[in-house]
Amino acid sequence: MKFQVFVIAIWVFSLSFASVSARFFPINITGIPPWILHNTTKTAAWDAFARFAGCRPGETRDGLSMLKKYFNYFGYLPNSPSNFTEDFDDELEKALRTYQQNFNLNVTGELDDQTLQQIVRPRCGNADIINGTTSMNSGRSSSFHTTERFHTTAHYSFFPGTPRWPSNRRDLTYGFFPANELTNEIKAIFTSAFQKWSAVIPLTFTQTDSYFLADIKIGFYSGDHGDGEPFDGILGTLAHAFSPTNGRLHFDGEENWVVSDDVTRASLPTAVDLESVAVHEIGHLLGLGHSSVEDAIMYPSISSGTRKVELANDDIEGIQLLYGNNPEFNGTTNSNSRERDTSGGVPHHLGSRWGLGLVLAVGFGSLFL
Ligand SMILES: [Zn+2]
Ligand SMILES: [Zn+2]
Repeated sequence: MKFQVFVIAIWVFSLSFASVSARFFPINITGIPPWILHNTTKTAAWDAFARFAGCRPGETRDGLSMLKKYFNYFGYLPNSPSNFTEDFDDELEKALRTYQQNFNLNVTGELDDQTLQQIVRPRCGNADIINGTTSMNSGRSSSFHTTERFHTTAHYSFFPGTPRWPSNRRDLTYGFFPANELTNEIKAIFTSAFQKWSAVIPLTFTQTDSYFLADIKIGFYSGDHGDGEPFDGILGTLAHAFSPTNGRLHFDGEENWVVSDDVTRASLPTAVDLESVAVHEIGHLLGLGHSSVEDAIMYPSISSGTRKVELANDDIEGIQLLYGNNPEFNGTTNSNSRERDTSGGVPHHLGSRWGLGLVLAVGFGSLFL
């Protein structure tokens, strides 16, 4: 009998951070204790932004300062969140235009419906722009915008300085935060997620019970958990990971994580496929930034109820540039993408917020990785 399992997080505050004890329930919502169900009706983090539909430069609206904080968080506005006004000013318009460019939207500088729908989608909390450097469309050379080929091919990116795991650390271990008490079923999700990457590069990933000695440390947490990037509850940010060789990979324990079976059949609109998120996060752990290619694993968002675990050519090209090919990998990368390397396209570098690789957010039934 098929069934899905949700990892439901419980807040367990200890010392300076909040850890989470993951719990599992059948997908059948009637099997979930009532005290858990409040999660299904909570307002998603960015739902309130929907009221800005049609808002244009020059207007003043209550709450626009929150939208500015959103853009600040993801790198589109200067780092002065305490001074944000409720005015749709030039800076916000500029931020919007850059955002629209990065997400392949019509560049209108306005809060049109298409843009708002994208804004409220859950997304990776990792900033798209760090210190003025973006990893996505808007950071490409001018030739990118005039050459259609560029628009459809490689968009992968790296962190500043292109950090990667060194050549003497190609057999990495990963461990799970003991307090989460994850089941083998959940741990198996990560085995599968790591294999997506090890299939194309000469790295191996092995689970270890020695969490504190593991190269990669995986945990589920709620709210503020001590790294300056608090999670925001149901939907909103989903997870984040750090650039090499930090190795920390954190998931928002308050999400309704689907661990097995088909997420598209989940009865909860906020169901998030754990493996899809894990594959994206591992990309950050290995050194990849975000991509503007929507089919790529490293695209910042994924709709809820969606499963996306297969690497795209864009992901493969990026990761192989860092580590080389797995000799056993039989796949090929398309020739169009390769053209970029000979046409002036330089692999782009993604900045990170304190080395933070990524945060996933959920909202309005969509997830950003
Ligand atoms: Zn964290
Ligand atoms: Zn990400």
